[in-house]
Formats: sequence, C-alpha cells, structure tokens
Amino acid sequence: MKPGTTTRSLPVAPTANRLRGIALDEYRLAGGFWGGLQETNSTATLRHCLEWMERLGWIANFDRTADGDTAGPRPGWQFSDSEIYKLVEALAWEHGRTGDAWANETLEALTDRIAAAQDDDGYLNTCYGHPGQADRYSDLSSGHELYCTGHLLQAAVARVRTTGEDKLVDVARRAADHVCREFGAEGRQGICGHPEIEVGLAEFGRALGEPRYLEQARRFVERRGHGTLEPVALLDASYFQDDVPVIEADAWRGHAVRALYLAAGAVDVAVDTGWTDLLRALERQWARTVERRTYLTGGMGSRHQDEGFGEDWELPPDRAYCETCAGIASNMVSWRLYLATGRVEYADLMERTFYNVIAASPSEDGRSFFYANPLHQRTAAADVKPGEVNPRAEGGVRAPWFDVSCCPTNLARTLASWQAYAAAVDGDALTLLQYAPGQIRVELDGGPLALRVDTTYPLEGTVRIEVLEAPDREVELRLRIPDWAAGAAVTGPHGRRAAEPGWASVRGVLAPGAAVVLELPMGPRLTWPDERIDAVRGCVAVERGPVVLCAETVDLPDDLPIDRLRIDTRAAPRAEGDGAVVRMTARTAPDVAEGGVPFRARPQRSGWDFPPQEVRLVPYHRWAQRGGSAMRVFLPVA
Ligand SMILES: [Zn+2]
Repeated sequence: MKPGTTTRSLPVAPTANRLRGIALDEYRLAGGFWGGLQETNSTATLRHCLEWMERLGWIANFDRTADGDTAGPRPGWQFSDSEIYKLVEALAWEHGRTGDAWANETLEALTDRIAAAQDDDGYLNTCYGHPGQADRYSDLSSGHELYCTGHLLQAAVARVRTTGEDKLVDVARRAADHVCREFGAEGRQGICGHPEIEVGLAEFGRALGEPRYLEQARRFVERRGHGTLEPVALLDASYFQDDVPVIEADAWRGHAVRALYLAAGAVDVAVDTGWTDLLRALERQWARTVERRTYLTGGMGSRHQDEGFGEDWELPPDRAYCETCAGIASNMVSWRLYLATGRVEYADLMERTFYNVIAASPSEDGRSFFYANPLHQRTAAADVKPGEVNPRAEGGVRAPWFDVSCCPTNLARTLASWQAYAAAVDGDALTLLQYAPGQIRVELDGGPLALRVDTTYPLEGTVRIEVLEAPDREVELRLRIPDWAAGAAVTGPHGRRAAEPGWASVRGVLAPGAAVVLELPMGPRLTWPDERIDAVRGCVAVERGPVVLCAETVDLPDDLPIDRLRIDTRAAPRAEGDGAVVRMTARTAPDVAEGGVPFRARPQRSGWDFPPQEVRLVPYHRWAQRGGSAMRVFLPVA
C-alpha cells in the first residue's frame, strides 16, 4: 500500500482531503428505511441480476471471447459487460460489509470468467477487437469500450478497499495500463462517448497509489468539449458533453448520466490535482443545474429522446425521464463535492435523491425496477410479463429487466454501499449527514468514538444518538439539519436549543451514556414550484420530511378522477402514517364531446361538481407498489 492510499472500505477517498466519508464497516445499519432496502438488495437483487445476465448470455460473452468463439451473434448491447462489472462491484461491497460467503464466491467465479477474456495486452471487451467483430476503438462515440473499462475499475476499487489486491484487481490494473498506453500523451487523442473511464481511473489510481491513472483521467477530462466525437444519429455534440470544455460549461446538458459521470470524474481530477478553477466551475454547474434543471424528487433529465437534460425550467412532470441511474450519478457528484467543500447543500440534495429517486426504483421484493421516474402517470400501466425483457423507458410499472438494463445493477452497487454516504469524519469531528438506525464506530484524532443511532426516520423525525465510547477530550458531533427542516431542535449535554437548517454542532467531552436528540419537524407541507416552471404553474406538491408525496388512483374515492383533481390549499395537509391527507375537489368535463380541437372561445363551464373530500397522499417512492395506477405529484390548486 503506497502513501496516500487507504485500506478503508470507501467508494470515494480523495488523497488530499482531511474530510473523509465513513467506511462501510464503521456504520452498521440496524433495520430502518435504508437497512431494509439494503437487506432486500442482499437477499434478492444481487441474485436477480446474476440470474438475468446468465439467462441472457451477457456473462457467457466473456466465455465466448476466452474461447475465441466471437464470430457468431453476440447477445446484449455493446455495453453489456458494464452490467457484469457493476454487479461485481455490488458483490465486493456486500462481501466487504457483511462477509457474505456467497457474494465472495460469486465474485471470484465471475472474476475467473472475466479474466479469461482479457487479451494479452490488457484490452478487455467482449464486443470489439476479436474475430468477426469491429476493430478496437473503431467507434469511440457509441462503442462504450472505455465506459465498460471504467466500471471494471470501480469494481476493482471496491475489491481492493474491502479485501485487498486479488485477481480482479490484477485484471483491472492490466486494463488500466492498456488504456494509459493506448490513450496516453503519445497515443490516440480520443475520448469515450459515454464518460465513466474518468471516474474509474481517478479512484483506481487513488486506491493503488498510482498517479498515472489520475493523469490519464485528467487527459480525458481536458480532451472533452472540442467536438472530436462523431455525431450519433440526430444528436449533436452536447449529447455527450463534447460541445464545450468541462471548465467552460455553465450547466449540465445532454444525456444526464453521461453529464453526471463526467462531472464526478472531473471533481476527482480537480481535487487531486489541485485544479481549483475546475472545481469552482463544477460547483457553479451543480448550482445552476440544481436551480433550474432538477425535479422536486431530485430527478434529472426531462427528455426521453436523448435521456437528457432540457433547457432551464423545462421540467414537465409527465414527460420527466429522471432515470434511476441519473439519480445515482447525481449523488456521485454531490458526494464528491461535499467531500471537497464540506458544504451542506450537497448532502441536502443527496437526501432528496435518495428518498425520491433511488428508493423509488426497486419493488418491495427487490426483483423489479423503475428505469424512468416520471412525476405524473396519466393512465395505469399494464402489468409487465414476468420473465420478459422490457423496453427501458416504459413508465408506470416496475420491470424485472430491461433491454438496456443499466439501472438494476447500478442500484445494487449503490444500496450495497449506502452507509458510506451517510456520515463523514474530520479530525475530532463526526458529521451525520443521513439518519438511519445502527451503530457507528470511528477513529477520531483523539481516539475512538462509538454511537448508537435510534430512529424510525423518515416515518418520525426524532433521532436519538447515544454515546457508547468517546475520547476523553473534546470532540464535535455535527448534525445536518435538512434545508426543509425549519423548526428543528437539538437536545444535548447543554440543554435543548433550536437548530436552523445547515449544521447543528454539539461539542464537548462526551461521556458514555450521554445522549443527543435531534427533532426534525415531519408535518406535511405544501411546496410551491418556481413560477418559471411552466409545466406546473398553478400547481402545488406536498412533502413530508425528505419524502415527496403523490396522489394515486388506488387511494382516490371512486368518483374523483385524478386528471381533474384540484387541491384546496386553505386546509393544511394533515399527517397520516408516512403520508398525508389533503382536501381535494374536482371539476367535471362536459359529458358530450363538443368536437373539434379541445380549445374553446370561452372557458369551460365552471362550478365544482364534486364536494371537497379528504384524499390520502402516499410517498412517491412507494407508488405503483399496489399494482398499476395513475399518479401525480403536482396538484392543480382549486
Ligand atoms: Zn439506468
């Protein structure tokens, strides 16, 4: 292990930082919202992904490549190798966190098959460069070879930081060396149409203490934005962020996952090379994109055609794309910016995205998933056929697998490592960023600090933190007060006091048995959109704590049509379970069709045909779990 590297099980470990994330083995979840999702991921989703990729022959592509049997048809898209790598990453975190023997054995078996497909010079891809296939790197715009390699490197990061160097890490090192030779200063001056190699190289370089990998990541970031990629179909260079150099861009644009993976890699490069101007540019891009191109759920991407960001304020709820992977990628960027700056707004957006994009994707059994996450479903979707591959963007129902199936494995690796994003350590300070029950034990400068966190958050807003072990000198416990939590309070050794959104700090010599209690106001509240978001002008949403709520047809009285709902905002929403109750009414449309285009010289007749009724709203992340339904987050105001 070289200087500057860490053996801690961290997905992201900048070399220059004092502030670090919490390692997986430093935070043991004990049930709760995220512990439950993590458990379902462990017991169901990992196996589910493995089964599907075996069934479809995506894993066998490695066997065929090893056997020289590549002339025939190849199942899967050109980027399907990346799904196996994301599953391997998930297995590495899972084994590292729990010691699960199945996860380790499965990882080792997959590693053997992957390794057998690697060429002598380190090149590793099952779609290009072998008999009957197109040449290596002959289609940088769409080939995804470097994208796949980036995911291999991230998988190896998970392995080296949980288990140490092994065969997978060796395979990844040879692949990374190949990339550095092929695309180095003297090599091809190309970039990959789908960013990912940047973030993979940067972190793998950190994990192995290998500066050449960071240097190659920097080259890829610098090369981007000069229009060198061949256009794909009708999409212009902004689709893959090749229109403007990273440091010069104002906001994220084009394909959302690409834009966000690139930004994550660029933050890594900026932080580790001390490139302050680049870091400031990325902070500005984050701020502008969050301000104008981000949904209430934290979802990103308003366009289906290119899975991309729209213009400023282009946030239609029904046409929202909000790919699950874009939510994951958004949190990858926000987490890196948090570690670089310590600013609370990054953790705030992560919470929003965790509860309302990432948590929305998996079904309760962890075996089907949302790919797109619209905020308005007009008609209930038909149930999907189990055992069949589904079109990726069909909304309204979770599907077991997709034609392009990037989201399930991305979810698997994220849930397997969730607590790594929940807290941070800096000198003699421990910062809690996300609230989940469990035990934390970290080494501060002054010695170990161990805490037990008890909470049912986000069901209730009380978080009780008990000190189990602490250094006998002053330490700081910092608590994130979410941006929505006006009226929070903290009770500690110095009594109870109000806490404003931002940080609440408890300092002192903490004795075992001492408790700190955080109270967050969880009453449902109305949330009004910016006037410039045309698509939801005149509407309001209801949130409860970090959770966005929605109306679903299954909760509506039979006679209340969801497309004509109006909310009476004079009546404050009332809490009920993990949702809320609001007063709704609806206006009828004429029974008889009037013919012609649906636009008239005069407003349609007014009058409220339905008396106001109480209607239950439920967490958006649970929608369509009781079968297909129509749903809406934004409610027109009566
Ligand atoms: Zn995806």
